[in-house]
Amino acid sequence: MSSERNVFGAMLQEFEGAARILDLDPGIWKILTKPKRQIIVSCPVQMDNGAIEVFTGYRVQYNITLGPAKGGIRFHPDVSLDEVAALAAWMTWKCAVAQLPFGGGKGGIICDPSKMSQRELEALTRRYTAEIIDAVGPDKDVPAPDVNTNEQVMAWFMDTYSMHVGHTATAVVTGKPVEMGGSLGRREATGRGVMIITRESAKYLGFSLVGARVAVQGFGNVGSVAADLLANMGAKIVAVTDWNSGVYNAAGLDIKQLIAYNRQHRTVAGFPGAETLTNAELFRLDVDVLIPAALEEQITVANVRDIKAKLIVEGANGPTTPDAHKYLHDHGIFVVPDILANAGGVTVSYFEWVQDRHGYFWREDEVNERLEAKMCQAFEVVLQTAQKFNVDMRVGAYIVAINRVATVTKLRGMYA
Ligand code: GLU
Repeated sequence: MSSERNVFGAMLQEFEGAARILDLDPGIWKILTKPKRQIIVSCPVQMDNGAIEVFTGYRVQYNITLGPAKGGIRFHPDVSLDEVAALAAWMTWKCAVAQLPFGGGKGGIICDPSKMSQRELEALTRRYTAEIIDAVGPDKDVPAPDVNTNEQVMAWFMDTYSMHVGHTATAVVTGKPVEMGGSLGRREATGRGVMIITRESAKYLGFSLVGARVAVQGFGNVGSVAADLLANMGAKIVAVTDWNSGVYNAAGLDIKQLIAYNRQHRTVAGFPGAETLTNAELFRLDVDVLIPAALEEQITVANVRDIKAKLIVEGANGPTTPDAHKYLHDHGIFVVPDILANAGGVTVSYFEWVQDRHGYFWREDEVNERLEAKMCQAFEVVLQTAQKFNVDMRVGAYIVAINRVATVTKLRGMYA
């Protein structure tokens, strides 16, 4: 249950491990472990049956030292302030690792979009936007899609904001439809980034992705694209699970067909030519690469001992609990943390924001080339940092992130 989870506590544990190694100044430590702003709003919506429902929404701006807050908005029944604050903190570290001029933010609404009509979702999105309007803007806080939100939700957000300020403000959100200022390549960017990091990790670990067995948890915007791109490179995607079920084929699933099937059925369940598989079974599989690309707290002390993969690439935010991470580290499993592995999405969000502000748009191959360069550079810097401090990739990524934010915090100095 959401109230029993402690996602923010998990983020803090990760932070503290790296801050201790860095011997971080105690004052900066205090600043970096507190969200700067937390907004809670109630959003009344008239539902299709005429009844009024009031939805709780959040927007947390964790840190804006490096630039405007940046991060997605998720629609999910388990959203909580604790979770949104943790996700906003992770965005702060992620933008710093990727060297983007952004701080970190996140939003969420407690709702079940699978039970809502398009009209209800539009009304909810517009009301939420209106409720947080003073806090957002191209220079203040720039939302994007996250779990259960998409280009259409961003279009509604952008339109509502634009109506209020009296002009079209494309740069207020990223992940918009391409027709209205979105960037080519943004939709695939997180999954593409996961592919790039998987490829670089395999290269570093000395194994080939051709014929490598890969299991993917989550078949949304991240998991499906990563699976497709890795399959194109010759990897064998043997298992995929989603919110509902899972599928397994030892010879490798046909990912293009699975994507088409999933589009039609909204689940991978029942995909022809595959066996059914549970999440617990997915984590137990004898695979080379495991890609958790669903939600937080999926790899825990309860299942971590079952894991046989030698490489874990975190497509989701926060999929591994700190205790489970310690076990993976102690057992020599190479884990690429979320704040590096899934930074491709926000990196192309940054490109989108830049393009919107210039009013000049790039070709898709230019976007992908720049994404490639950014991801490879971030991987290299984190790897070198991890080696220098003799720590794992998660601590290495935090060291890079904390150093960057702490340096600017010190340079800017204390106001008042
Ligand atoms: N929701 C994505 C993430 O967690 C993207 C955020 C963004 O593009 O601002 O990284």
